[in-house]
Amino acid sequence: MLKNLLSIFVRSDCPLCQRQTQQIICTYCQKKVQSNYLSTRKIIKSKNLSVFAWGKYEGELKRAIASVKYENHPQLGVLLGEWLAHSWLASFPSKKIEKLTVVPIPLHPQKLKLRGFNQATKIAQGFCQVTGYPLKSQALIRVKNTQAMFGLNPQQRQTNIKNALVVDRHLEPTLGRSPILILDDIYTTGSTIESAYQAFTQSSFKVYGGVVVAAVITNKP
Ligand SMILES: [Zn+2]
Repeated sequence: MLKNLLSIFVRSDCPLCQRQTQQIICTYCQKKVQSNYLSTRKIIKSKNLSVFAWGKYEGELKRAIASVKYENHPQLGVLLGEWLAHSWLASFPSKKIEKLTVVPIPLHPQKLKLRGFNQATKIAQGFCQVTGYPLKSQALIRVKNTQAMFGLNPQQRQTNIKNALVVDRHLEPTLGRSPILILDDIYTTGSTIESAYQAFTQSSFKVYGGVVVAAVITNKP
């Protein structure tokens, strides 16, 4: 009886379907989100770096990321980060030993204040809990309040994000020597992750690559 009463208190609504669940999202939605998992073509070649993606940016995965950001579900972001980490370690077993420094793409301070959290930092927290990698969530600063990328063409995206990110000079000495792994929620054209890459290489840091929860996969070969 007491146990049943207690279980009522720990149950909450699944952010994606509003069914009651004792987990972050219900088993039904977990399956739906995981149907967007990429079993092949997980590595995207960007201009200067390789980016590892957990899933395809569509369907329930797209919906889950929107729910993290716009419906205030940071814990779902942490869960996606854990899934990303398990997939990463399964693909690169040697990376269990070699530690990389994880740096999430920052939001502009104004946007951070409005949202209350940075979704990329939440994903990075889940990722680092599983991988054991050090997390440096403040290493990059967004100095330009860029307009939303939605609806911009690749050229406009590149101009929009150019020089928007810089390495925080105060944190530079704490970043250590391990290569940087840039983490973001979504990969669309690669312009954001490339901008982060430029910021780090200009400050003489070695970038190992990028990881994202979801990537827009085009049908180009
Ligand atoms: Zn659900």
